[in-house]
Amino acid sequence: MKIHLDSARDEPFRWQEEIALEPAALELGPEVKLTPVSVDGSLTRLDTGYVLTARLAWRQTVPCDRCLAPAEEAIVLPLEWLVVEGRERPVAGERELREEELGVVEVDGGVLDSGLLVAEQVQLNLPTHPLCRPDCAGLCPRCGTNLNPGPCGCAAPPPDPRWAALAALRSSNDDDRD
Ligand SMILES: [Zn+2]
Ligand SMILES: [Zn+2]
Repeated sequence: MKIHLDSARDEPFRWQEEIALEPAALELGPEVKLTPVSVDGSLTRLDTGYVLTARLAWRQTVPCDRCLAPAEEAIVLPLEWLVVEGRERPVAGERELREEELGVVEVDGGVLDSGLLVAEQVQLNLPTHPLCRPDCAGLCPRCGTNLNPGPCGCAAPPPDPRWAALAALRSSNDDDRD
């Protein structure tokens, strides 16, 4: 939504909206799924600018880092930004202080685009190593079977990574015998 800062000139401007984001537009693969982001926001005027507070909520589904099954997560994100107009920046000292406390959004022409802010937050909150569950057993490194429902037919993997080299040696000996 395009929000005119003027809307909050006399009293805080509150709004609600649902923003549908296309994963492709966020440079995400088709395996990522996003529900529309529900936004509950308010814009309040200060002496030096505006404060934007918003609560974002959505669900995202991304492939599990270990087993590739869809890992779904519900996100609820309370946010607060200082909004300053590009041509009316607060003096440096004040600005730096505030930047540490709050994120800063600069707007030009007195209009804020909530869609851009929301898209950025969704991107920032995508997990780098998502798991379908904390103890996901992953895929068998030999046959690729998902080990969550139960073990595959292969020998149990070595319990300690330090044994991996030994296991590799042992398996190459097996191959030789075959
Ligand atoms: Zn998993
Ligand atoms: Zn296996």
